[in-house]
Amino acid sequence: MLPDIKSLTADELAEHLRAEGQPTWRADQVLHWLYARRVTDFDAMTNLPKSLRSRLAETFALHTLELVRLQGAHDDTQKFLWRLADGALIESVLIPANPALYGDRSDRRTLCVSTQVGCAYGCKFCASGLNGWKRNLEPHEIVEQVLAVERWHATQCQHHPSPRTPSPRPSTLDSRLIDNLVIMGMGEPLANYENLLKALRILNAPWGGRIGARKITISTSGLAPQIRRLADEPEQFRLAVSLHGATDAVRARLMPVNRKYPLAELIAALEYYRARKGRMLTFEYILIAGVNDALDQVQPLAALARKLHAKINLIPYNRVEGLPWQRPDEATCEAFRAALAREGVRVTLRREKGGEIDAACGQLRLRTERELATSVP
Ligand code: SAH
Ligand code: SF4
Repeated sequence: MLPDIKSLTADELAEHLRAEGQPTWRADQVLHWLYARRVTDFDAMTNLPKSLRSRLAETFALHTLELVRLQGAHDDTQKFLWRLADGALIESVLIPANPALYGDRSDRRTLCVSTQVGCAYGCKFCASGLNGWKRNLEPHEIVEQVLAVERWHATQCQHHPSPRTPSPRPSTLDSRLIDNLVIMGMGEPLANYENLLKALRILNAPWGGRIGARKITISTSGLAPQIRRLADEPEQFRLAVSLHGATDAVRARLMPVNRKYPLAELIAALEYYRARKGRMLTFEYILIAGVNDALDQVQPLAALARKLHAKINLIPYNRVEGLPWQRPDEATCEAFRAALAREGVRVTLRREKGGEIDAACGQLRLRTERELATSVP
């Protein structure tokens, strides 16, 4: 199989073209076609000589994602189910800007991307890990989730122009739709470290996705050694840690990874991250009825947040078909939030986004795979 051209950095592409005897500015032209114009075919790169276009097509693949299913929710959240070249399914979720958080309604959005097919970490509440881990995504498969959604958006604007969606300028750099990235889709990003970092560098680069590092949040279930490694990278990526329990007893019940990296080890790695990067940490805490929503978690959770200057994001659990876990009622969620706020930590209770479209990671894929399995005679 040919390597995909979107797994290459600008330097790697320039080096390749130099070795082929091409002038140095050719790399800039190709990058412009790939990331500003988002073409899906070498033949569309019309300012390159035909011979170079066919040479590139012989050397590199230019894979795109095939849209299998699109689900929209009332609040404009859209969920994309993609098929990869080998038939595997992954998800991305497009989340509209929250007017309450950012003032005016923005035409820019956050995209949540996947990093693996399935997940090996088997958190008890999560749909992504239910069928185990299949493989890591390649850098281009992570990058392409952003490009494919932006391509989709440009065609939407053409077909349904509306005052809320600005007119499309799909052929210019200004037409970027996504300016925030959260690595919270299917998979454990830090278990696919090399490919993740390469993809994020492409998405962050001025010649690539042009998304600021501080606008990129990596969510991890708590792989302590990789957190330390990430702390030593030059980029200021934000880190979100899926905590879901503030004591080892509660956390280990939900997340098997806590046995490998118990809280003390995780917290030490996060202190290292904070020392290197400053205030870039968020704790994610799913509220699950009768499991981690009792007020005895509040003090230890607030103590961890204070120690690390972390913000806490409370997320009412999204039900997963076939799993026994339930979301607490609104009053319980609110009482938990208020108790944390009284402890003096920064805390938000997430307003529902995409709840009715299986927006939590892995759920649309799970449902589609189940439907496919039952529809086979
Ligand atoms: N593997 C990484 C990133 C992907 S999961 C991680 O665990 O952080 C992204 C977030 O979605 C995590 O905080 C995860 O705990 C949460 N999540 C998974 N299933 C969920 C569900 N059913 N309801 C609400 N949040 C869920
Ligand atoms: Fe994997 Fe994250 Fe789901 Fe846990 S929550 S199984 S680490 S994707």
